[in-house]
Amino acid sequence: KERTLAMIKPDGLVGNHTNFIQNTILASGFTILNQITLQLDQDTAKGFYAEHSSRTFFPNLINYITSGPVLIMVLEKVNAVSDWRSLIGPTDASKAKVTHPHSIRAMCGVNLERNCVHGSDSIKSAAREISFFFKKTNSA
Ligand code: ATP
Repeated sequence: KERTLAMIKPDGLVGNHTNFIQNTILASGFTILNQITLQLDQDTAKGFYAEHSSRTFFPNLINYITSGPVLIMVLEKVNAVSDWRSLIGPTDASKAKVTHPHSIRAMCGVNLERNCVHGSDSIKSAAREISFFFKKTNSA
């Protein structure tokens, strides 16, 4: 089995989408191995999104992701990384509403920035992101 990192972003928690998202995760065959609700500070957010640090949207992204608590989960199933990416849908939630109306971002997100959820984009980034948040319980 494979593991991936999922995050419900601040707009997801504020919009009360947590139960819907977690029910969808479980109904899709994932096991939630670990979860934690955190208020990210600026340094943690910048570390997590380091690969985007040179992008013009980076300051906005850091403001958004630190604007309220996030719920971080380790998900496990066969093919977890790409199956979770498929379930959340395209990055731009406003476009997802048209092209992937049943995706989580279509149902819970707003636009390109406020897209409700995160998913690791590769097995390598999943390993990095899981150990970023769950240093000691990674092998649960
Ligand atoms: P994530 O990494 O959160 O799963 P993603 O891989 O689909 O999303 P990335 O291109 O890695 O998308 O961008 C990371 C996050 O930065 C997006 O989820 C979104 O919140 C934000 N973002 C991306 N592009 C823009 C943009 N042009 N303007 C504002 N925010 C953006």
